[in-house]
Amino acid sequence: MKTILTGIRANSVLTLGNYLGAMLPMVKLANKYSKEGCNVNIFVPDLHSIISEVDGDLRENILRTIKYYLAAGLEVNENVHIYRQSYVPAHSELCWILNCNTTMGEASRMTQYKEKSEGKASSNVGIFDYPVLMAADILLYSAEYVPLGEDQFQHIELTRNIAERFNNKYGEVFVVPVSTKEQVEFMGVEKPIRIRDLVNPEKKMSKSTASENAKIMLDDEPLKATKKIMSATTDSFEDIEFDFETRPGISNLLYIEALATGVPLSEVVQKWQGISRYGDLKKQVANTVSELLVEFQRRMTEISDDEVLRLLSEGEKYANEVANAKLLEVQKAVGLR
Ligand code: ATP
Ligand code: MG
Repeated sequence: MKTILTGIRANSVLTLGNYLGAMLPMVKLANKYSKEGCNVNIFVPDLHSIISEVDGDLRENILRTIKYYLAAGLEVNENVHIYRQSYVPAHSELCWILNCNTTMGEASRMTQYKEKSEGKASSNVGIFDYPVLMAADILLYSAEYVPLGEDQFQHIELTRNIAERFNNKYGEVFVVPVSTKEQVEFMGVEKPIRIRDLVNPEKKMSKSTASENAKIMLDDEPLKATKKIMSATTDSFEDIEFDFETRPGISNLLYIEALATGVPLSEVVQKWQGISRYGDLKKQVANTVSELLVEFQRRMTEISDDEVLRLLSEGEKYANEVANAKLLEVQKAVGLR
């Protein structure tokens, strides 16, 4: 039985980019594969959350992140396991053992670490070490498939290296996740989705971007989101054309329209191509996004904390059983037990 594992940090409210680019595709995969009999582990990496500033109340953010999955359409059945990382102590325990089997060189090469610590007078050890914790998150559950964004691919390669080295040294303990190429094939996407910043469309939309107008948050009032889209940066060409290289702003709007409606991008492009009324497209996209937000926010209010806590307590029971069994195998292999 294959295991698919995915998680999203609970640091703040998510953006439309996170939703269309990560949450929605993940939920689609989860629904498909859990019905086919695969284990689908969905966890909140809350220990990863604290490597940087948490925006708001962490505990609330964690529960809200689970609600996001449910509001995005996650169908929970007996193969879907939802849990919080910090409720499964084996993650931290295995991380330590893996730390002792990871070189400083390997960990230092991680671009996420370089980016996140760049320009800072000092950064915490957690930022340096979190890819190893991530390896533990994956290896504890023998997960072969870990659908995630391009920015995390390097960490999959690191996980594979750590697992292979460990297996060579101590015996076949870990299932090695498939290569990033195979991960992409598994996700069924040609290239990763990248929603752009509305003010500066050369950049991707990020929740940590300071400018409010650059990003649409999932809890934005629909009217506020409409204003942001109507004032989105486009270009000074005469008519609409889809090309992220030369016209990132307008292409981004077409892309959002396609992903948010589920209409194939080619159809959306065909409909708008050559039209000179940028305002009409903006109105259309604003309308689509407003409807999406209204529906999503309605669903969020229908999910209670109690329901989430019930799912977590079931999931954490399962996760602890699986993770503790693997940890014991590791401890025995290393000679700790
Ligand atoms: P931060 O600014 O804190 O890095 P972020 O918006 O980049 O926030 P992450 O927490 O880094 O979000 O990533 C969460 C998930 O969302 C990842 O799978 C990432 O690939 C995906 N993601 C982030 N931004 C976008 C985007 N603009 N378009 C599509 N997917 C995105
Ligand atoms: Mg990011």
